[in-house]
Amino acid sequence: MSAINPLTEEQKIERAEEVTYNLSQVIERVKAATPEKQTARLVAVSKIKPASDVLAAYNAGQRHFGENYVQELVDKSQELPKDINWHFIGTFQSNKAKMLSAIPNLWAVETIDSEKKARLLNKACEDVERVEKIRVFVQVNTSGEETKSGVEPDEVLPLAKYIVNSCSKLHFTGLMTIGAPDVPDDTAENPDFKLLSECRDKLQKELSLDGLELSMGMSGDYELALKQGSNNVRVGSSIFGARPKKVAQ
Ligand SMILES: *Cc1c(COP(=O)(O)O)cnc(C)c1O
Repeated sequence: MSAINPLTEEQKIERAEEVTYNLSQVIERVKAATPEKQTARLVAVSKIKPASDVLAAYNAGQRHFGENYVQELVDKSQELPKDINWHFIGTFQSNKAKMLSAIPNLWAVETIDSEKKARLLNKACEDVERVEKIRVFVQVNTSGEETKSGVEPDEVLPLAKYIVNSCSKLHFTGLMTIGAPDVPDDTAENPDFKLLSECRDKLQKELSLDGLELSMGMSGDYELALKQGSNNVRVGSSIFGARPKKVAQ
């Protein structure tokens, strides 16, 4: 989308139609894969995609969007409709807590994986006198890969307790995992999703809490994730198309 080669009006309309069509397909598949009585929310992951793509999905009724890069999220949140519910799903860097807390319609931060990050986000919310709490998910490293962020399953309880008891500006909403790649959607059961679900059940007992959510499932595996209990699927490329391979954070 370079300034040298702007899209023609016709190309813009075509692109909006493409996003709208893809979105409608994903929504149908989400509906079909979600067990009765399970709540499921579709988060359209718009990272690296232009604001015009977000707007196309918005105009088709989509309200929850996910972003990975804080500056990009700040820019889009300022430019796009204020009733969008933004999810931050990127690596949480402590020095970005202030920027995140100042986004009025930030709906959730899905990638909290340490007490320090929770504390800093909470503190930043206090500093900007944020009225609405930010929902937070604790990211769990369910696959045990060293390169993955997230807490180990047995570290979930103390972190959840810390958020519930000590972070008055945060609302502990549930658990999130990315999971190992390349477990195809037609597998009977994804071990990462199973583990996250077990973690959640255990946590609810330990905290005497109900209704904690599971955020799991991306373009390649969201239907399986829904079948395994996901309440929040994060789908990017199936809606907006492939992304360039590597972008600096
Ligand atoms: C990019 C990203 C997604 C969306 O991935 P797709 O495969 O494009 O659907 C979901 N969750 C997280 C954490 C991501 O970084």
